[in-house]
Amino acid sequence: MIRIAVATLLGLISAAAFPQAVLIENVRIFNGVDHKLNPGHVLVVEGIIDTVSKDRIKAPEGARVIDGGNRVLSPGFIDLHTHLAGQNPRSMEKYHPTVAGANAAAMARHYLDSGFTTIRDAGGTHPDFARAIEAGLIYGPRLFPSGAVISQTAGHGDSRAPHDPHPTLVGGTPYLESGSSILADGIDQTLMAARENLKAGATQIKIMGGGGVMSEFDPIHSLQPSPAEIRAAVRAASDWGTYVLAHAYTSDAIERLVVNGVKCIEHGLLIDDKIAKLVADKDVVISTQLVIFRTLQDLPGISERNLRKLEAVLAGQENLIRLIKKYGIKTGFGTDFIQGGYTMLTREFTERAEYWTPAEVMVQATSESAEIIRMIGKLNRWGNFGEIREGWVADLLLINGEPLQDISVLSDSETALALIMKQGEIVKLAL
Ligand SMILES: [Zn+2]
Repeated sequence: MIRIAVATLLGLISAAAFPQAVLIENVRIFNGVDHKLNPGHVLVVEGIIDTVSKDRIKAPEGARVIDGGNRVLSPGFIDLHTHLAGQNPRSMEKYHPTVAGANAAAMARHYLDSGFTTIRDAGGTHPDFARAIEAGLIYGPRLFPSGAVISQTAGHGDSRAPHDPHPTLVGGTPYLESGSSILADGIDQTLMAARENLKAGATQIKIMGGGGVMSEFDPIHSLQPSPAEIRAAVRAASDWGTYVLAHAYTSDAIERLVVNGVKCIEHGLLIDDKIAKLVADKDVVISTQLVIFRTLQDLPGISERNLRKLEAVLAGQENLIRLIKKYGIKTGFGTDFIQGGYTMLTREFTERAEYWTPAEVMVQATSESAEIIRMIGKLNRWGNFGEIREGWVADLLLINGEPLQDISVLSDSETALALIMKQGEIVKLAL
């Protein structure tokens, strides 16, 4: 932490002082796209991949030279579905929001130490948290925040008890006041909620597009925003050059979201063949998460009602993956851990390998997720990342073992990762 603070300070004093050139020699490159390894060398200058070559590269004056020892060099990993601000365990539910911030910082640290250099927050985390990471105040991955989730009254983002007053009528509840969720009904309120998030710095907009598991009162089958409300969120986002991602499980919900302009469906477990084809035809993403749905039943204090809803959606998991494969739907890599469950992060790699080859999982966690994040268009001020290519951002990992043959080498990040580099900065080196 101190080192990063000093580095940031140096960066302010002299842009040339940091980050400097780093030459990584003698590696086998997984470029994020191809299912194979190419022997080579990579030169990073000022946070950007300057040269990728199979021939030796002459180290520039003052460059740091790292012998990769024939290890696998991969782009940094990406998670498309996090909730940094949703990590308070149940026992801390009523604590002041600063405690949620401390838990969010612990999660951010765990992610970067696990080789995740980029994450997209699927709602609830204020964009200021991304600014604090960028400023070097918090150690963590590059963060693409969605701001507060936008939910209709009685929707998946409405966490009030039955007797709690509506926030826009007589004042709010702590959960809503923490900025995790905005209740918006009708076109005007939806436009305002989306614009409020964009003003705060959200890079994309998250709406609750149908019934949810962990909310108490909305049935899974419920259709939530009306077509006009969905179009209002999409309009506000697209006017800003970006897109809407939406929580949804059922075919009816997904169909309504997709025909009204939503570009990314989160979860999608109860989709059928016909709507999967529609999703593919419209080049919409279904962002999937495996482990969370298989472990949520162990969450302390989960209610009977939540458990029944969980059972219903989990039953669709195999079918969803079959349809994603059948229609070649883009899916990326996501997790959705809540209440401290993020320590299971690397299980997402191994459990995906039940359905996809290790190389396919590696592609999901790098180039495919990056492509999905880049749907923010002109809001992307970081450049291209997620692949090892000249001119792209230097988010790089040196991996011990053979991840393209056995993804389980990633189970223990501590031993698996010999180098973690985020935007040219070495955050871990253990050769
Ligand atoms: Zn979520």
